[in-house]
Amino acid sequence: MAKIIDGKAISAQIREEIKKETEQFAAEHGFRPGLAVIIVGEDPASQVYVRNKRRACDEVGFYSEAYELPASTTQDELNSLVDKLNADKAIHGILCQLPLPRHLDENQVILRIDPKKDVDAFHPYNVGKIMIGDYSFLPCTPAGVMALLERSGIDVCGKECVVVGRSNIVGKPQAMLLLHKSGTVTVCHSKTRDLAEVCRRADILVAAIGKADFFTGDMIKEGAVVIDVGMNRRADGKLTGDVDFATVEPKASYITPVPGGVGPMTITMLMQNTLTAAKDSVK
Ligand code: NDP
Repeated sequence: MAKIIDGKAISAQIREEIKKETEQFAAEHGFRPGLAVIIVGEDPASQVYVRNKRRACDEVGFYSEAYELPASTTQDELNSLVDKLNADKAIHGILCQLPLPRHLDENQVILRIDPKKDVDAFHPYNVGKIMIGDYSFLPCTPAGVMALLERSGIDVCGKECVVVGRSNIVGKPQAMLLLHKSGTVTVCHSKTRDLAEVCRRADILVAAIGKADFFTGDMIKEGAVVIDVGMNRRADGKLTGDVDFATVEPKASYITPVPGGVGPMTITMLMQNTLTAAKDSVK
């Protein structure tokens, strides 16, 4: 029987800490950390994320602004908004909800956001800082995974860590963060030969491929820590991870459920990054 890593409870605990630090910060400096969220178009999933981010800001006592722009927004209009927010002293973090409608260039936006306000940590400057281990912001989902491990008392040092998925927002930074903690890291992807064999070597397995229930019990070493980043919708509309919980849980020592594992941590880490940005702004 694996111990369930309760992402909701850990997330609530961290948000409580952020709330306290925010009160202290506001008392000292006379202003609150401010987050601006930009969304272009009417993608329902993105709208839910943006709503959740605003709610989280209210919960921890941040100032927040939401810009809900029509799908017809031009690149120039979007760039001008980013420029305005870059110059706005009340805003310490800027997040542009991705994906953008096809006619807009995501890279232009990522490059335009001031790295000091890049609370998603997508700007190449921040990506480079993560690579050398000297960072202010960590990308939210991998940072959430590290916080779950740390707060569950799981030591990464010297462990065989297998990250499956190599995207810029999850897999690659996840591998780097595990390496910074002295894990022995293997990164797998769709071209990996004999994935099951590599997974069976893992003391810590991070599944981030976006395929429902892909990782089954036979791919897991007895006693492994299994972190499921995947968020997939089943045909019946239910949310499910990349890990087949029923067959993996009996073999794992720790496991994150979906929902209620990594998911709640992502927005919490965004709050953490925004507080860091506000603190850095008064240094
Ligand atoms: P991407 O689609 O950008 O990347 C998927 C990665 O998985 C790629 O590197 C791909 O390999 C690899 N992959 C796909 N199929 C296989 C396979 N059969 N075997 C091995 N590797 C495979 O996804 P993201 O990284 O953005 O997201 C991954 C998952 O995490 C998704 O379910 C997403 O919804 C979820 N997610 C959850 C978040 C949260 O808050 N909990 C936040 C962000 C994402 P290749 O590079 O070779 O194509």
